[in-house]
Amino acid sequence: MSNSETLQNKEKELITWRIMPVTAADLPIAPPNSLGGAPFLADNQVWPRCEHCQTEMVLYLQLDLLPEFELPFEPHSHLLVFGCSRHMDPCMPPLAPALKGKLPENYREILPGDREYSQYKLLLNRPSAGRQRQAPDPHLQCLALTFVAEPEEITGEGAFQRGSEGPKLGGMPAWLQNPETYKCSCGSDMAFLLQIPADYGFAKLPEAPTQPNSYGDEYLFFLGNEVYILACQAQCQPDSLWPIAQN
Ligand SMILES: [Zn+2]
Ligand SMILES: [Zn+2]
Repeated sequence: MSNSETLQNKEKELITWRIMPVTAADLPIAPPNSLGGAPFLADNQVWPRCEHCQTEMVLYLQLDLLPEFELPFEPHSHLLVFGCSRHMDPCMPPLAPALKGKLPENYREILPGDREYSQYKLLLNRPSAGRQRQAPDPHLQCLALTFVAEPEEITGEGAFQRGSEGPKLGGMPAWLQNPETYKCSCGSDMAFLLQIPADYGFAKLPEAPTQPNSYGDEYLFFLGNEVYILACQAQCQPDSLWPIAQN
């Protein structure tokens, strides 16, 4: 299929947005779309701390949801992905049958499974929440992000369809295991927002400590599991997001 045919069919096709880090030479000062960098938190939001070790978390990624992404969230909402540099065990899905895929009321604070403290913080702030630029994250190199639309490449059949690999926004998760769907505790459906591929390395600053269980010069999110971040379509609270980790 040629590029022009691809564009003509755009309305009918599922689009995914490839996330591309740009070179340091092109880096704007304090970009709002970045790996690492200076987080833009909402007014009155504070830099999240790990509940286990109380240290400030790493800002792995932040980005604005541009209107052209056509995601089922309020345009210009700002996504932030934080995690502890030392405590990043992936959380287990809450598969209690009684929940029927609905996350428990306390899913933002206490994780189902064998752990009772939060090691990560996922935020999706509405534009009306304001934004305050913080100091730069001291762990990771700041890389600005650009986005390129592509028709989603779907493989598999029926309930086992899977989308393309790589870092991306929207489209369909690449599902390394069975697809998972959830409802927020508020009752709204959760929609796929962001994919962080397996073993995706976030380049660390030279002076930052080496992350345990990673590759020396790079940090990993959730120990390098592939992560699919879902968000409540009602955006009922800024932290109504859920990370699915698969490998
Ligand atoms: Zn910690
Ligand atoms: Zn909700």
